Amino acid sequence: MGTFNTLAALLTCPRCGKQGEMEIELRHGNTANQLHLKLGDDYPRMLREPVSSADQLGAALLLVEGYCECHLCQKDFFVTVALENNRLTSAQVDLTKLGHVPD
Ligand SMILES: [Zn+2]
Repeated sequence: MGTFNTLAALLTCPRCGKQGEMEIELRHGNTANQLHLKLGDDYPRMLREPVSSADQLGAALLLVEGYCECHLCQKDFFVTVALENNRLTSAQVDLTKLGHVPD
């Protein structure tokens, strides 16, 4: 079992269609401290993460994959999470990738 950070965000579940505060698992970057994050928070960096060229430009937009299990229907789905300048700015349900739990 790996570690992950969680992001709490208001999402509409694509499996049951209900809206709720969902916990999104993020395995990107530094997950050692298993932080509970929300939109607007800075994302924890790796301790020895190299500075990317995008960082140098100061306009880094990074899309990372999140995984979510709906607490209303217990089914799962994927979420695209945006990091702008290392800050969590949005979470959108990814309808192009199917979850593991069958309908
Ligand atoms: Zn659901």
